[in-house]
Amino acid sequence: MSGTGVRPTSAPANSQGIPDEPSPSSGQLRRERLRLMSSQSLLPRTVFDEDHVAFRESVRRFLELEIAPYHARWEEAGIVDREAWAAAGRQGLLCMTIPEQYGGLGVDRRYSAVLIEEIARQGLSGPFFHVHSDIVAPYIDSYGTEAQKSRWLPPMARGEIIAAIAMTEPGAGSDLQAMRTVAVRDGDEYVLNGQKTYISNGQLADLVVVAAKTDPAGGSRGVSLFLVERERVGFERGRNLKKMGSHAQDTSELFFSDVRIPMENRLGDEGHGFYMMMKELAWERMLVAIRAVAGAEQALVETAEYARNRMLFGKPLFDHQYNRFKLAELRAQTEMARVFIDRCIELVTRGELDAAVAAIAKKQSTDLMMRALDDCVQMHGGAGYMWEYPVCRAFVDGRYTRIAGGSNETMLELIARTF
Ligand SMILES: Cc1cc2nc3c(=O)[nH]c(=O)nc-3n(C[C@H](O)[C@H](O)[C@H](O)COP(=O)(O)OP(=O)(O)OC[C@H]3O[C@@H](n4cnc5c(N)ncnc54)[C@H](O)[C@@H]3O)c2cc1C
Repeated sequence: MSGTGVRPTSAPANSQGIPDEPSPSSGQLRRERLRLMSSQSLLPRTVFDEDHVAFRESVRRFLELEIAPYHARWEEAGIVDREAWAAAGRQGLLCMTIPEQYGGLGVDRRYSAVLIEEIARQGLSGPFFHVHSDIVAPYIDSYGTEAQKSRWLPPMARGEIIAAIAMTEPGAGSDLQAMRTVAVRDGDEYVLNGQKTYISNGQLADLVVVAAKTDPAGGSRGVSLFLVERERVGFERGRNLKKMGSHAQDTSELFFSDVRIPMENRLGDEGHGFYMMMKELAWERMLVAIRAVAGAEQALVETAEYARNRMLFGKPLFDHQYNRFKLAELRAQTEMARVFIDRCIELVTRGELDAAVAAIAKKQSTDLMMRALDDCVQMHGGAGYMWEYPVCRAFVDGRYTRIAGGSNETMLELIARTF
């Protein structure tokens, strides 16, 4: 044996001179799982304090009791029960970052990060609380009038009103400036006409923030945002779209036909829609990135456990070097991503996260998650293709993250502009 010649006597060396670790017991595996579940990667995480750690415990219990037991039924139904939203509201998990005077908790965005991580870890792809709490509510809080905030935010925090945001159209996704939905001023009202698609929470939503052109020739200054309530005449929901994954999430088409919107329902100034959307995008992309790294970590833990228990050619799958190295490689990459994401969470909490850095976080973490999930499905063999295995569901549930929230190619455009 080369090197220092010092070798621990407790562990025999294999042919490469690397001491063999004893096979972990199931108790060790469980502890390992819990350690990762409690969101500590190999490098200790420093972004959270004790309050966040305690909060994580309560979130986990809530999800185990109030969400997970019903999720399969919601997947069959294609929609989450409204009662789940009310339960989340009672638990104080909706609109947490909104000031207390509007029904929130006034806490920092790390609490949102914890909630998203735990939802990802438990594979609960149905409830899109983050669209409601971390996208729509901050729009209203940042740009709404006092009347809009008092009217909408408290019932949103209680889960009595569910919110969605509608930007994408059949002919305008990555190229949002190509949107054709228009809002034409008519006295004290706007008249809204157009169509949106792929809208998360689309069936459940009682309130939709709709992007529409108020000046079709105005380019990026010609778009405004409107708060459109479910009951407005001329506002119709289309199909609850049948998707590859996230089957419990209601993703829908929305149609607007001569919908009359009072002036007081315009959010922010006329023509400022693009500015508002761009301002919030860094955080919106972080929501996707946070979910992705937690999802990758979880898939690796589950797959390592599966590989330890699955015997193949007389030994555990994990003991075949190809698989060990595959998992080791992915863990190394996930650990690197974890540090980057945590640094971004720190910056976003201070309101200092740059849009290009958020684009890097979104692109790299979603690509990594999908690479990891593909390898994890493969390592499960046929079981990886079976719905009953979490890794199967995670694979299809996670695929949208490379497309939505700005496609990863749009992220490359943003990153390229930094040169
Ligand atoms: C599950 C899910 C939930 C969604 N939720 C919402 C929601 O709540 N609200 C909402 O408004 N929208 C939502 N979307 C829509 C999402 O934001 C759009 O799908 C996304 O922006 C891409 O737009 P598109 O589908 O029109 O694809 P397109 O714009 O047609 O793009 C097609 C593909 O072209 C490639 N591409 C993009 N830009 C470039 C480029 N510059 N150069 C080369 N190639 C490029 C990418 O691979 C892209 O995926 C959701 C989508 C999904 C799948």
